[in-house]
Amino acid sequence: MSLSKHTDAAFQKCINPDCAAEFDRGQALFKCPECGELLDTQYNWDKIAVPKKLRNFGQRWATRDSPLDFSGVWRFRELLDFCPDEHKVTIGEGQTVLQQNCAVAQHLGMKADRLYLQYEGLNPSGSFKDNGMAAAFSHAMMVGAKSCACASTGNTSASVALYAHSCGLKCTVFVGSGRIAFGKLSQAMDYGAQTIQILGDFDDCMRQVQSVCSRLSLYLLNSLNPFRLEGQKTIMYRILEGLGWQVPDWIVVPGGNLGNSSAFGKAFLELKQLGLIERIPRLAIVNATGADTLTDLVNNKKLVWNEGKVDQAIIDDYYADLTARNFSPRTCASAIEIARPVNLKKCLRSIDVCNGVVRAVTDEEIVDAKAIIGKYGLGCEPASAATIAGLKHLLDEGIVEKDERVACVLTGHPLKDPNLTVGYHKDRQGKFSNPPVEAPNDLEEIIKLIR
Ligand SMILES: *Cc1c(COP(=O)(O)O)cnc(C)c1O
Ligand SMILES: [Zn+2]
Repeated sequence: MSLSKHTDAAFQKCINPDCAAEFDRGQALFKCPECGELLDTQYNWDKIAVPKKLRNFGQRWATRDSPLDFSGVWRFRELLDFCPDEHKVTIGEGQTVLQQNCAVAQHLGMKADRLYLQYEGLNPSGSFKDNGMAAAFSHAMMVGAKSCACASTGNTSASVALYAHSCGLKCTVFVGSGRIAFGKLSQAMDYGAQTIQILGDFDDCMRQVQSVCSRLSLYLLNSLNPFRLEGQKTIMYRILEGLGWQVPDWIVVPGGNLGNSSAFGKAFLELKQLGLIERIPRLAIVNATGADTLTDLVNNKKLVWNEGKVDQAIIDDYYADLTARNFSPRTCASAIEIARPVNLKKCLRSIDVCNGVVRAVTDEEIVDAKAIIGKYGLGCEPASAATIAGLKHLLDEGIVEKDERVACVLTGHPLKDPNLTVGYHKDRQGKFSNPPVEAPNDLEEIIKLIR
């Protein structure tokens, strides 16, 4: 399938078709040294014993006493075969559920059995990021890294801190001052990371961490890291598995730095090329209106993948304008509070592969959707709820049909951002607020209050 000069099963390749430089899988690069573009992990599939049917991966449920078969990432290891088993890292990530949710479906006016919520809050650090870190830390071990770093809106730092201490790596995380939910900040500190709060937003942290990593040769764990995105492909494999290996009509995901959306499109493209699925689902990526670069660029500026020849001038003009206006993104969904998403071009590729759509939803829509997911589902953090808020738009517009099968990725756990949840309910901030009732310390009075 690939005409690579690399004879290894896996190698890295620049996504810029005019460059297309290739690099060994054993290098820690994160950007193409020749042209500065993003790198992909690519495979020589003929050198890999990929199962003939996706269903065959299910056999590993019988051997879950082996840590690699237990891992929700590594039990799909032939589909991300860049690292020998002895370097593979796992702390039990990916034990997630795909929950069919009739109540939320009915709330949205969908056919009741058509909505599924892929709950990634069940991961060890409480977000989907652990899928990516299992893969990225395996690569870090493979290349002999000793220290690592990341910029984070919160969950990346929690996940990096957890994996770093379990791998014995030193770790520094960069967060925007005041831009991180309390649950996440508490994890970074608790898991022993050096936490640096930069006076700035995520985009400032992202710029600084790249310079710090190249100056000090730290291993970078942001989603620029192509190996991390390989781990995030497995979220899609688990959705297929949860549907009895059938392909849904739609995948809905929040869009922040656009790592997930990039990984999901790559996952489906590869499965299709390998003949393991017959069709590719459509992808809906949901921004918050206060951080809607992707929505603006795709829907208004008509930015497209164009076989990799992306119109860079549109992006440069857009970012120059953000800088000129001193723009800083603002949304209560702090995990997607990003104005310069590093995986923009890979995400455009996914939109192309999956016939994708992009929408933006307001904070009000996000917090109301979050309350519905809490009331009828397993709960989630604000960014995750953008999926249901976005799905509502797409149903109203008739882009998603009421009887289409939809899987929404709930990216993070509800306890990540307790302040927002308490504020919403206690201070009656939204339509679905469920405030506590004050009661005197008196049995008869208390009994009168029970409804
Ligand atoms: C990181 C994160 C996102 C954003 O995902 P991207 O892959 O960066 O687009 C969304 N939700 C949660 C909970 C996150 O932690
Ligand atoms: Zn290049």
